[in-house]
Amino acid sequence: MYNENNIFAKILRSEIPCDKVYEDEEVLFFKDINPIAKVHVLGIPKAKCQNLQEFILNSDKETFSNFFKKISKVVDMLGLSNNGYRLITNSGDNGGQEVPHFHVHIIGGEPLGSKLG
Ligand code: 5GP
Repeated sequence: MYNENNIFAKILRSEIPCDKVYEDEEVLFFKDINPIAKVHVLGIPKAKCQNLQEFILNSDKETFSNFFKKISKVVDMLGLSNNGYRLITNSGDNGGQEVPHFHVHIIGGEPLGSKLG
């Protein structure tokens, strides 16, 4: 069950500040507090879902495709399109997921080697 007290839910309710990169009615992108590369941004849908599978199963087509279109827009805004970047989504304990609100890490700005987050 979705935990309303997870950190990203608090960020969405503006109870905790974040360094915002992009926001609209359905999505929020903000800088990771503990970046693993020069550019490290987190993208979250505002819908209450814990992981990618829940997002896939619980979203309509438009919401789902809008999220990935916004990832593409933010990748452009961050200037990552030419030299490349990495997208990561961790899920569950074995996936190393810390925050149980579905999110995508956008990582880049330098050669990443084998950094997988
Ligand atoms: P996960 O391990 O769940 O895939 O990633 C969670 C990410 O959230 C981590 O990279 C961590 O640095 C980031 N994070 C945790 N708490 C906060 C916070 O309060 N603000 C921001 N901006 N990022 C956070």
